[in-house]
Amino acid sequence: METQEAARRAVTIYAESTPPGRGGVSVVRLAGPDAADAARRLTGAPLPPPRAAALRRFRHPDTGRLLDEGLLLWFPAPASFTAEDSVELHLHGSPAVVAAVLDALASLPGLEPAQPGEFARRAFANGHLTLLQVEALSDLIQADTEMQRRQAVSGFAGGEDALAGKAEQWKRALRACLARLEAVIEFPDEDTAASFPRAETSALLAQVDACLSAARRGECVRLGLEVAITGAPNVGKSSVFNRLLGSERVLVSEREGTTRDVVEARLDVDGHLLLLADMAGMRESGDALEAEGVRRARERAAGASVRLILLSCEQNAADWRETLAWYRPGDIVACNKCDLADVPERETPIPPLPLSARTGAGLDALRDALLAAAQFFQSEDSENMPPPQGARQRDVMERVRIGLRESLAEMDSPAGDVAVMAEGLRQANRALAHLVEPVGVEAMLDELFAEFCIGK
Ligand code: GDP
Repeated sequence: METQEAARRAVTIYAESTPPGRGGVSVVRLAGPDAADAARRLTGAPLPPPRAAALRRFRHPDTGRLLDEGLLLWFPAPASFTAEDSVELHLHGSPAVVAAVLDALASLPGLEPAQPGEFARRAFANGHLTLLQVEALSDLIQADTEMQRRQAVSGFAGGEDALAGKAEQWKRALRACLARLEAVIEFPDEDTAASFPRAETSALLAQVDACLSAARRGECVRLGLEVAITGAPNVGKSSVFNRLLGSERVLVSEREGTTRDVVEARLDVDGHLLLLADMAGMRESGDALEAEGVRRARERAAGASVRLILLSCEQNAADWRETLAWYRPGDIVACNKCDLADVPERETPIPPLPLSARTGAGLDALRDALLAAAQFFQSEDSENMPPPQGARQRDVMERVRIGLRESLAEMDSPAGDVAVMAEGLRQANRALAHLVEPVGVEAMLDELFAEFCIGK
């Protein structure tokens, strides 16, 4: 594996780095030991000074046929994205031009097309990107909404406030706590209990707790705020769903796993991603298939962060009570079909928004309520703790928390064993080290880089 990767790194890779298609400019990127030579062969001219754009004619190295005229940039190692010798060709944005240039590059010895994410992988292997940055980069490329972009870019830029920066501070604090415990082990005659770093460990635990609660917000930004439309059959759930879809930016990639009973759509509401679910009406049914739909709908409604509880002006008080049993603070309540009748005056946990899916009345207010919910769940929290991004980082933070809790419990116990306290702290420290340099990293990297596009 090692040698295979090392052998691969001796290869100079090339790919189109801009999305395929027509545009102002298409960029072809080369990285590796033969990048400079390839550029010289393609242009028949010396390389421009490093990092300065130069106008060049690109010709096929075998036939001398003119392929395009464009800019050439030369990034000598190590000051490049991958830390290797790199070249960028800025061509006219045309599939035919790019195809001809890629074809010319293929004819040169030592050059091979890049695999998905291979540039980023080399940047990582050469120490130009940390694992946390690679994970953030993957999120950044896949970001659809403004909030997703903000979250990913802060992970990518790093610094003291990003998780990697915090991890460094926590590791330092842990080492200080461990040193205190080691002193207790070495000089057991002192007033041992008073020497335990209890306050420091507990402060650390509070920060790790805050980080993990920020995780829910982070996931909410990454995956979208789940909003379940909940209500009896025929109150107009699907009509409201379609109305909202019609008025918002619908993101194209519908999530997999939707059933005939739960229909989902991803919406971008002012930069916030919502995952809106329309489902089977909540009523008991003798029909086995419908009953299964209702069971799933109930499960989803209960699990969603927010429910859009939909009543209708036509329903009686008993129907309202049954539907409102779903209500939890933070939910949105709306009363549909207000084109047919006034909203009945009944006791409700919050006043229902009058709505008509037919006329569109009240839709703006509903949209504002959804936006407010998204802002609440996806806003940066007051402690400004960076959330762990993705399941791997969250697992690491969970392990840190377990270590700290074990250590603290031992400090609080009258017959506390110093060795156990120290082991808890060491566990937390090891887990933090794995945040940046995980063990068994190869399989994980394969998976991660495969998500990247070719040319990244
Ligand atoms: P669902 O079963 O809750 O999803 O309800 P639907 O969206 O399928 O709507 C049930 C019926 O109510 C349909 O005939 C709709 O045309 C009608 N409907 C939905 N919203 C409104 C509304 O705001 N006003 C009126 N008058 N009819 C509506």
